[in-house]
Amino acid sequence: MIEPDSALAHGLFDAMAAASFDGIGMTRDTYGAGEQRAHDLVAGHAGMLGLEVRIDAALNLYLTLPGKERGLPAVLTGSHLDTVPRGGNYDGAAGVIAGIAILAAWAKAGMTPGRDVTVIAIRAEESVWFPVSYIGSKAALGLLPPDALDVVRFDTQKTLYRHIQELGGTPELIKAGTPGIDPAAVYAFLELHIEQGPVLIDNRRNIGIVTGICGSLRYRAATVTGRYAHSGATPRSHRRDAVVAFAQLVDALHRHWLAMEAAGHELTLTFGQVNTDSRQSDFSKVAGSVGFCIDIRSRSTDSLQQMDRQVQATVAALARQHGVIFDLGEQRRSQPALMDDALRRELARSADRLGLTHHEMPSGAGHDAAMFANRGIPAAMLFIPNANGSHNPDERMELGDFDRGARVLAGALWAIANV
Ligand SMILES: [Zn+2]
Repeated sequence: MIEPDSALAHGLFDAMAAASFDGIGMTRDTYGAGEQRAHDLVAGHAGMLGLEVRIDAALNLYLTLPGKERGLPAVLTGSHLDTVPRGGNYDGAAGVIAGIAILAAWAKAGMTPGRDVTVIAIRAEESVWFPVSYIGSKAALGLLPPDALDVVRFDTQKTLYRHIQELGGTPELIKAGTPGIDPAAVYAFLELHIEQGPVLIDNRRNIGIVTGICGSLRYRAATVTGRYAHSGATPRSHRRDAVVAFAQLVDALHRHWLAMEAAGHELTLTFGQVNTDSRQSDFSKVAGSVGFCIDIRSRSTDSLQQMDRQVQATVAALARQHGVIFDLGEQRRSQPALMDDALRRELARSADRLGLTHHEMPSGAGHDAAMFANRGIPAAMLFIPNANGSHNPDERMELGDFDRGARVLAGALWAIANV
């Protein structure tokens, strides 16, 4: 087996960091200058390596090493290149760079896979910039709802339509539902990604093989409204305390979460943003309003729905009890996705052949692989150990761990491409 070109990969990580450093972390803003620099860097290298380079209407980038039978559905591998503001260098980029390092080594050695192998650099995976998830992969698969093009980026206030157009994309084609790639022409999708939690390092495993990607059920802009009142002069019986009602909501749902776990459900429940109104709240006032969000994630739609029913029942009970009004706002969902059994086995076999250990695990974070899986394309993911989580400047993947993961991916890709 030919080793992936690790020197090329390490050089690309350095170049990517130099092009993205914002003074604190890495910023490759979605459909902005940062993401574009990363795409230019990758496309430039692919051209030098002799790979076929193609860009679709949503500016996703496809780099192809032609196979022996060009009419066969291709194997795709890759990930995204954008980051959250002040993020890390490896979230997303590792999957694209691994693919390039593999194809570069094969091309140099004159190895021709049985079918085309394509590295895809996907746009707009981080939903922090635009309030829509998986924009790039949805557009690639012809699944982006037309009205998504009207959403605005949080910092520029310009629409997604305009951002894509200004970088040379063709939003009209996306709006018409024209896919960037024919799903029938994709044999499988494999995504290498850093782990965003501590599981692999804690368990001392070389790679993670993902069993499924969690879906989510979210209320991003919920409020509870009570009544502002004097903290000393208002007896308990006369209070409509939004903070107390909210605190009881957190406690009740947290207890329900524990009970669901005890019953065998796998899910997470998070209240990531909570605020009182800084203009009206005060240490000497009963709080009249709390804004919050709820994020529920699970691989099981049933678990998501069960927790949601508990949310609805609990807010109804607390509203009566405290004389407050809960408004959960708009509910947003993404579908869970199961990874393909045969591809998972191929990754495990590849790790075994290399004498590397693996760990089967769900992904709590969303990934583009979920879009491919939900479109009916067999998909799988492998995780690389990574300290300090992700979406922050301290994420730290060891390059040795990356090299081992890239070798596992290479072995699996070669096997799948020659089926
Ligand atoms: Zn990512």
